[in-house]
Parts: sequence; structure tokens; C-alpha cells
Amino acid sequence: MKAIRIERNGGPEVMALSETPTPEVGPGQVRVRHRAIGVNFIDVYHRTGLYKTPLPSGLGLEAAGVVEAVGANVTRFKQGDRIAYASGPIGAYAETYVVNEAQAVALPAAISFDIAAASLLKGMTARFLLRKTFRVERGHVVVIHAAAGGVGQIAVQWAKHLGATVIAVVGSDAKAALAKELGADHTIINGRDDIAKRVREISGGAHVVYDSVGKDTFDASLDSLRPLGMMVSFGNASGPPAAIAPSALAQRGSLFLTRPTLFDYIATVEQLDETAADLFDVTAQRAVKIAPPARYPLADAAQAHRDLEARKTTGSLVLAP
Ligand code: NDP
Repeated sequence: MKAIRIERNGGPEVMALSETPTPEVGPGQVRVRHRAIGVNFIDVYHRTGLYKTPLPSGLGLEAAGVVEAVGANVTRFKQGDRIAYASGPIGAYAETYVVNEAQAVALPAAISFDIAAASLLKGMTARFLLRKTFRVERGHVVVIHAAAGGVGQIAVQWAKHLGATVIAVVGSDAKAALAKELGADHTIINGRDDIAKRVREISGGAHVVYDSVGKDTFDASLDSLRPLGMMVSFGNASGPPAAIAPSALAQRGSLFLTRPTLFDYIATVEQLDETAADLFDVTAQRAVKIAPPARYPLADAAQAHRDLEARKTTGSLVLAP
């Protein structure tokens, strides 16, 4: 089968389409024939080496497809089932992949493979951020960075559905218009506007900031919070934020700071099913609409990474095997 492999860390050029053996299923595992593969910013961190992985390696954590082989003792799925998964081991940029059945979820009939691969990892991320890390409720002022991106588009709509006032931070006027269409109440342009000043003018300070940009926005995000507010640093699109002293939280009003990852919130099969069910529910209600993803052939995965890193994309990207 064909799969994207990397021999070393580096730019998109290290990604190569290779012929690799089709993996065998072990006990408790299923092999998925991929129909659509999710592209996530974490794949860039794995490629560059910001997040260390043993090399050589595949890439990718997320895909949707059909179960084509079932190992011993599998109880959740049978051959022919439509399923999706959104956690490691790394290697989803491939025609097929083997996952533990406890990592996969059944796809409702209404959800296409493209939409599943566009939304499972990103949507479950939006869900744990808004429902678990900080429980967003009616009246909360919520700042969402990279609001026109994959996670961002889902988070903006979901936060509005929960009754929050949403302040969307984006990289361009075109992305600001998109965030408004998705329901954002206010928009701020990263790199042009003074983010903290604008958030304070609009709201007097946010209850929670969801910052996936990292290095470039971390301080502005902290300065955007009202006393007792929560800083949720959940990504590094511009590079990892610098270390901070605990006293920096005290000085700004006894702030909370967390650095969560999805995988701790879907660590058990019960947590995974609950999280995915909540996502499928808000999409079925049309409270959250998943835009059709930009589609790249698997062989062009490097181009998908270039576009994502160059901030050229909005919404989600998928690879077609
Ligand atoms: P996005 O589609 O959101 O793409 C990243 C966006 O970040 C860009 O479109 C861009 O939007 C913004 N950005 C700001 N500065 C930079 C920069 N210097 N270089 C590149 N992009 C920049 O990607 P995803 O939806 O896949 O992921 C969004 C973020 O969420 C990522 O940081 C990812 O790591 C994080 N994440 C974290 C998870 C967790 O469990 N902690 C799980 C899933 C995602 P703009 O032009 O509007 O500024």
C-alpha cells in the first residue's frame, strides 16, 4: 500500500510517498481502508520534530473509512462498518491503517467520510475545550484564536451555540468576514490590532482565551483576561510560547493557565464515545456546520502542509488516498 513516510525531520520536502507492507491486524484491532484522511497542525509538529517521534515514521493521526479486516476479540466493529479515528499511533497518511478498536468510533450514516476526516479530531478538540477544560456558559466572553481555521471554525459556532459572546482573532480581513459569517460577535486581526486592548474595549476582559497560535499571541492572550479568567494554551502554530513565572498569573488577577491535549480527554473508550457523540449531535442539529474540506491527493500531502503553514487555508484539509 502507499503511505507518506519521513526519514528525517524538516520541511514539507521530507515527506515522500512510499510503498509499504499492508499492516496486519492484531487482537483488538481493525484495519481501515481509508476514504479520507485528516490533516492537522499537529502533523506539522511531528514532521518538523517540534513534537519528537521515532524515525523513520509515518504521519497523521486521523482518517475515516471502511473496516476491511478485524482482529481477534473485536467487539465494537465488523467488516464493512464505516468508522473514523483521531488518535495515534502516527501513520494515518496511508491507504489503510490498523487501529485499536477502542480508538475508533462508528460514523452516523449522515456523516460523509470527507466530513468525518475534516471534523473528528478538530471537533472533539473544540468539544473538550468548550465543555471540559472551561465550561462555557451563556454570557461568557470567549476569545478564539485562528478562528477561521479547522478547529477555530468549529469552536466559534459551538461557543455561540452555548450562548457565549465570541471574539474571533484571525490573520486577515477575509478570515474576519468568514468568522463573522460563522457567528463571531467581534473580530480582531492578529498582527495589526492590539489584541488585549481590543478585547478589553469590547468586553472588559474575557472569561477564557483559547490560544492555539502560541508564541506570537501568548502574552496578549494573558492580558486579555479578566481576573480569575482562564488561559487555555492549546497549540503552537507560531512556535511554542516562552516559559512564564507563576507570579505572572497573580499580577493579572489570579488567572488560571492550562495546556491541555485532546488525547488526555479521550483516553478511555467511554470518554471517546461521549466526546464524539456530542460532536455528532451538534452537527446533526446544524448548530455546528462543517464546511466541505479542501481535498488533496495523498501524494500531494506536502502541498497540504505548505498551504496550512503559510496560513493560506480556512477550515479543514483532507487527503484523498
Ligand atoms: P488551523 O487550520 O487552525 O491552521 C493554523 C492557523 O493558525 C492558521 O490558519 C493561522 O490562522 C494561525 N496562525 C497564526 N500564526 C501562525 C503562524 N505563524 N504559522 C501558521 N499558522 C499561524 O489548524 P488546525 O485546525 O489543525 O489546528 C489549530 C491549532 O489547534 C493548532 O495550533 C493545533 O496545534 C491546535 N490543536 C491542539 C490540540 C490539542 O489537543 N491541544 C488538538 C488539535 C489542534 P490566521 O491566519 O487566521 O492567523
